[in-house]
Amino acid sequence: MDIRIQLTAIVIMSIIVWNYARSKRLPLITTRVFGIFLMTSGINLVAELATIDTIYHIEIIDPLLNRFCHQVFIGTLNLTIFWLHMYVEYRAKEQKRESVRKFLIRVTPLTISMLMVVFGPLYYYIGEDGRYSYGPMAMTVYVSIFIYVCFTVRTLIAKADYFTKEMRIAILSGITVWLVIAIYQLIHPTALLSSMGVSLMVLIIYLSYENPREYADFETQTLNPRAFHLMLTEHTESKKRFYVINFMIEDVEVIQNMFGYSEVVKVLGQMAKSLGTLSIEKIYHSKSNMISMVISKEKRYHTLIQKLENWDFVYHDEKGIQYKPKCKICVIECPKYAKSVDDVMHLLDYLKKNPQILNRSSRVVEIGEEVIRNKNYVSKVEGLIRTALDTDGLDVYYQPIYAAKEECFVSAEALVRLKDTETLGYISPEIFIPIAEQKGLIGELGNQVFEKVCRFAREKEIWKYGIKYIEVNISGVQGIDQDLPCILKGYMQKYEITPEFINIEITETASTKTGDMLKQNMEQLRALGCHFSMDDFGTGYSNLSQMAKVHFELIKLDKSLIWPCFEEGGTEAKVILENSINMILQLGMKIVAEGVEKEEQVQMLTKLGVNYLQGYFFSKPIPDEQYLAFVQQKNAF
Ligand code: C2E
Ligand code: CA
Ligand code: CA
Repeated sequence: MDIRIQLTAIVIMSIIVWNYARSKRLPLITTRVFGIFLMTSGINLVAELATIDTIYHIEIIDPLLNRFCHQVFIGTLNLTIFWLHMYVEYRAKEQKRESVRKFLIRVTPLTISMLMVVFGPLYYYIGEDGRYSYGPMAMTVYVSIFIYVCFTVRTLIAKADYFTKEMRIAILSGITVWLVIAIYQLIHPTALLSSMGVSLMVLIIYLSYENPREYADFETQTLNPRAFHLMLTEHTESKKRFYVINFMIEDVEVIQNMFGYSEVVKVLGQMAKSLGTLSIEKIYHSKSNMISMVISKEKRYHTLIQKLENWDFVYHDEKGIQYKPKCKICVIECPKYAKSVDDVMHLLDYLKKNPQILNRSSRVVEIGEEVIRNKNYVSKVEGLIRTALDTDGLDVYYQPIYAAKEECFVSAEALVRLKDTETLGYISPEIFIPIAEQKGLIGELGNQVFEKVCRFAREKEIWKYGIKYIEVNISGVQGIDQDLPCILKGYMQKYEITPEFINIEITETASTKTGDMLKQNMEQLRALGCHFSMDDFGTGYSNLSQMAKVHFELIKLDKSLIWPCFEEGGTEAKVILENSINMILQLGMKIVAEGVEKEEQVQMLTKLGVNYLQGYFFSKPIPDEQYLAFVQQKNAF
C-alpha cells in the first residue's frame, strides 16, 4: 500500500484551502460555489485515502465501512465536477435564476448517479498487483462526470465573452489534466491516481482563476472596485432592497499637501479598519477617495447608521501626526434610487464631483429625490451639450466692450449659448460650463466656440467695423490641455486670423490652480501673438503675486468688486476698487470693468482710469449679426 501520491495531493490541496481561507473573499454566489467546489474536492482526497486504507484491510474491516468510504469517495468526485460546472455556469450568467425545466435537466445526471452511489453495486478487485473498486456505481458516476465536463466545455465556448482567455485556458487545461489522469486510471485501475488528478486540476484553476487576489485592494486592505462592481451586480439582480453606504473623503487636497500624494489611500485604509470594528460588513474601495459597504439586512443597516452617527475617525500617520479628515457619509437605497450598477456608479460619480449637494447637518445623509432630480438635470444638460456638439448646435453671443477714452466699441466678449430643445429656453453657462468640465466635454466645446469666433471674424471681416479684438473664454480645464496651442493656432491659420485679434480670458482661480501646463500653453500662445485677460479679478482668493508671475495684458474686474461701491456704505469697497485699479495700471496692464449697468458707474470707472467697460448699460450679449449692427450704429461707421 503506497499512499505517497495521495499524501502529496492532500498537501497541495491543504495549501490551496489555507490560502483561500485566509484571503478576503466576496460574499458572491460564484465565490460560494467555488468554496463548495474546493470543499468537495478536499473531502474527495481524504475519502480516497480512506478507501485505500479500507480496501487494503478489507479482510478485517466492516464491509459497510469499506463501502461507505467508497461511496463518499465516488460521490464527492461526482460533486466536484458538478460544482466546477456550476461555477462556470454562474460566472457566465448575468441573471442568476433559471427556469425549473432547465434546472431539472441540469441536475438529472447528478441525481441518477447519486442514487447509484447510494444504492448501486460496487465490486472490489483484490489482486497481487493492487486493489481497486469497480462496477455499476463507479461507471454511472463516470458517465455523469463526462456529461458535466461536456456541459462545462460547451459553456466555455458558447459564452466565451464572459471569460478572459486566461480563464478559459485555466479551466480547460485543469479539466484536461484531470481527464488524462482519469483515462490512464481506467486503463490501469490499480494506479489510484484520482486524487492527484483532482488536486492538480484545482491547483491550475485556482492559480489563474478564482484567486481571491483578484478582488483584493492591497493599499487599503479592502476589496477592490471590481469586487464592488460584482457585488452590486449580484445585489441589483436580486431586486431586493439593499443599502450602499459610502464614506467619501472631501479634503483630498489638504491630505495630499499635508502628508503626500499617496497618503489618501492610507487614510482610506485606516478608515476601513476603524469601520471594521463597527460592522461585520465587507468594505470596498469603490472610488479613488471613497470606501463603501453594501448591506441588505434592514436591522443591521439601522443599527450601523446609529453607530455611524457617533463614529469618530482620526488618522495617525507614521510619524505620529494626527489629522481628522473631512468625511461625508451618504447612503443610497437600492433599487429605489439606483436600479442598476451603472446607476449606483453614476450617482457616486456625481456625489464625488458635487459633494456640496450633501451639505446637511446630520452626519449620515440618505440620498433622496432632490439629489436624484439634480443628478438627472445634470445628465439632461450633459445630453444637450453632447447633442449641440454633434449637431453644431451651440450659439455664440457677443457682448460689446466699450473703450472709455476712444468713446467707441472696440471689442466684444464671446459667450457661448446652449438651447434647451424642449423648453426652447437658454441654459446659463454658469450651469452647463461646469458640467462640460466634469464630463470631459469642455475641450470640444471650447474649440467649437473658438472656431465659430474665427469664422465669424473672417466671414464678416469684423475689423472693418473698428473692432480691434475679440475676447474668448478658456476654461481652466481646457487650459491645461497640452494640445491647446496647436489647436487654436490651427483655427487661426484656417480662417487667417492674426493672433493679436484674439484675447484669451482665463479666470483667476484657474491660473493659480492649474500650475505649469497652463503657463506653458500661455507662453506658446503668447509667442504666436495672442493676448490674455485675467477674468473675474476680485472673486477668487489667490494671491496677487500670481499676477506678477504670469503676464496678462488685461485684467477684468468682476462685478462683485464694482457694485458694492455704489451701494450704501460703500466707502471701503471704493478704497479697495481704487487701489486695485491703481495697482493694475501701475503694473502696466489694462482694465476692463464688468457688469457696468448704470450711468454713474460708467462715469466713476472712467474717472478712475478704467480702460474698457462691459455691461448691460451698453448691451447684453447679443447674436453675431445683431452685434455687428450694434457696433455699426454706435460707432457711426
Ligand atoms: P464671465 O466670463 O464672467 O462672463 C460675463 C458674464 O456676465 C456673462 O454671463 C454676461 O452675460 C454677464 N454680464 C455681462 N454684463 C453684465 C451686467 O451688466 N450685469 C450682469 N448681471 N451680468 C452681466 P454668461 O454669458 O451667463 O456667462 C457666464 C459665465 O460662463 C462666464 O462668466 C464664463 O465664465 C462662462 N462662459 C461663457 N461662455 C463661455 C465659453 O465660451 N467658454 C468658457 N470656458 N466659459 C464660458
Ligand atoms: Ca469671461
Ligand atoms: Ca468675468
